[in-house]
Amino acid sequence: MKIISANWIVTCDENNRIIKNGAVVFDDKILEIDTLVNIEKKYPNIEILKLEENSVLMPGLINSHVHLEFSSNTTTLKYGNFMSWLNSVIKSRDDLINKADKKLISTKLDRMKKTGTTTIGAISSYSFDMEPCVKSPINTVFFCEVIGSKGDMVDTLFADFKDRLNNAKRLKSKNFIPAIAIHSPYSVHPFLVRETLNLARAENLAVSSHFLESPEEFSWLHKDEGSFLDFFKNFLGQEKAVTKPMEFLNLFSNIKNLSFTHCVEASDVDLEKIKDLGASINHCVTSNRILNNSKLDLSRLKDIPFTIGTDGLSSNNSLSMFDELRNVLMIHSDKNIVDFSNILLKAATSNAANALGLNKGKIKKDFDSDMITFTLPDEVEDMDDLAMQIILHTKFMDKVIIGGEFV
Ligand SMILES: [Zn+2]
Repeated sequence: MKIISANWIVTCDENNRIIKNGAVVFDDKILEIDTLVNIEKKYPNIEILKLEENSVLMPGLINSHVHLEFSSNTTTLKYGNFMSWLNSVIKSRDDLINKADKKLISTKLDRMKKTGTTTIGAISSYSFDMEPCVKSPINTVFFCEVIGSKGDMVDTLFADFKDRLNNAKRLKSKNFIPAIAIHSPYSVHPFLVRETLNLARAENLAVSSHFLESPEEFSWLHKDEGSFLDFFKNFLGQEKAVTKPMEFLNLFSNIKNLSFTHCVEASDVDLEKIKDLGASINHCVTSNRILNNSKLDLSRLKDIPFTIGTDGLSSNNSLSMFDELRNVLMIHSDKNIVDFSNILLKAATSNAANALGLNKGKIKKDFDSDMITFTLPDEVEDMDDLAMQIILHTKFMDKVIIGGEFV
């Protein structure tokens, strides 16, 4: 049993409870939270790790959507338009993937940890990122991705996908959890979607899919036209989309832990369906900005919970969740910065834990002890401003605790 105290404990629980001068008793689970005075009285013989002035302790951040296999990109890919970006990815993919070796991915994971991320939802296209994820102390929900829209290839692609998933399942542990990603409605044949989702249901695996990221995707899926038409004709000899958005969504019934990424072009009916499916939306605001896609209109989500993802370095300049949270705060300029900051801290902790099916994301009794600590530059006068000041001022962690261990 260990005890840690901080000036501020931000619980990210249902009531947004913040404790001034609080302490947390924990082993691999959180055992008790209270004021430091009460904890000292109750446990007079246990040494308490007391953090410095203006310290904050909160749940570790959860990056719900990242592609580590594209971690070597900095200045290569074309931004500003989805199709130009996609073409540049196809052109440079092999180079970028080769450069993102295990060492580079491990370095990126280590930096993610130092910047406050304790859990990731990693979308893996080839499993080249599997070993670094398994070795990292960061918890990984490892989404083996299925992709391929050509009918005559589905058996081969499904076999390859199952191989990768089985390899991931062999390495399953409490901090490496296999899951299933479906690339998108435009790139995955309905047969593959159905078969992979049957696997997810049978084995109770979390599922995630990109959905309506760009206007080009919208025109293609709804009307079989726009710049996707040339792309599909040239690369795959296809002139029609393999599915309509609603047909695609209808396939996802009875998946317990389900999320859709982007959804910036989703219609109100799509959003209603996403809500009925009990799914969350992974919001990747920097990626959307960089590719000049639309900004997700959060007011349209109503009761759909959203989470925060950096997406990969193929469409971001940072995998730090605090960098991403600052971007979300700045890009949604219509939101009140003080209130929105509280919503964002929960999006990056408890909402993400729910989406991934994890008992994490809150400083609350019986939740996993994944916690981060850092120090604000000065006193916070008004407790209501705390979440905002945290997002504005935090870059690196003082301590990172995962599963009750200092890592
Ligand atoms: Zn993505």
